Amino acid sequence: MSLKRERIVIKVGTTTLTNELGNSNLQRMEELARTIADIQNMGHEVILVSSGAIAVGANKMRLKEKPKSMRMKQAAAAVGQCANMFLYDKFFGYYDKTVAQILLNAEDITQEEKKENLTNTFDALLEHSVIPIVNENDSVSYTEIESEEKLFGDNDMLSAVVAVLCNADKLIILSDIDGFYNKDPRLYKDAVLIECIDRIEDSTYELAGGAGSRRGTGGMRTKLQAADLATTQGIDTIIANGGNPAILYEIVKGKQAGTKFMGHRD
Ligand code: ADP
Repeated sequence: MSLKRERIVIKVGTTTLTNELGNSNLQRMEELARTIADIQNMGHEVILVSSGAIAVGANKMRLKEKPKSMRMKQAAAAVGQCANMFLYDKFFGYYDKTVAQILLNAEDITQEEKKENLTNTFDALLEHSVIPIVNENDSVSYTEIESEEKLFGDNDMLSAVVAVLCNADKLIILSDIDGFYNKDPRLYKDAVLIECIDRIEDSTYELAGGAGSRRGTGGMRTKLQAADLATTQGIDTIIANGGNPAILYEIVKGKQAGTKFMGHRD
């Protein structure tokens, strides 16, 4: 039986890409690159949405604490983005893969002309087997790092917007937790993993706590919002643990892993 070739958007958060010290988690990045390269070898098209620029940049700049001012956050993002892309280029390069950097602002997605240019760029890259690596343009825009609303919430929303823009078949959000639980498992020991959610309702949002871990910024709420956007455009969305990137093989094969939110169009 041949596998259906899919267009897949994979989002990795800061907690997946960095360790407790805020340094790059090289083993994780290497495993991620190898697995994605392999998935592309199976005939799938993959777009990676990657956070982590500020944390990695702050560390490279030897800042003693997480930057608080806008200018320092943006400076750290500029340093960290470069460092992350260097590592991705190297790790994907081991498996003979070419990567491309795409940095986006909210306006790029809301203006029709820019949106069309962007879609064309993604299509051209994917047609040539290039793996686009997307991040918000943190050094220029401030939606991600400063917005009260946390519009892109550590890139969770950005990954859904990219999935819709590129007409993806699947959105996979890798986090530091196994999936979506009936309550925050870090606070409640008896929390239970929900394997499948047909529809995201208001009551689903009540199960998600506030912003997540110290290094991550989005928490489950922004992941739910992302899943909400993607699923209503017919895109199946899976939240799974990025601690072991090999989980991507299971997801691509359609096996049970993490929490699956069913895509639908009403
Ligand atoms: P990442 O950096 O991987 O994007 P975040 O730290 O932003 O991750 O978000 C994941 C965190 O959300 C979990 O570690 C958990 O503490 C928290 N959380 C809140 N509510 C839930 C829930 N219902 N199910 C799972 N995790 C939850």
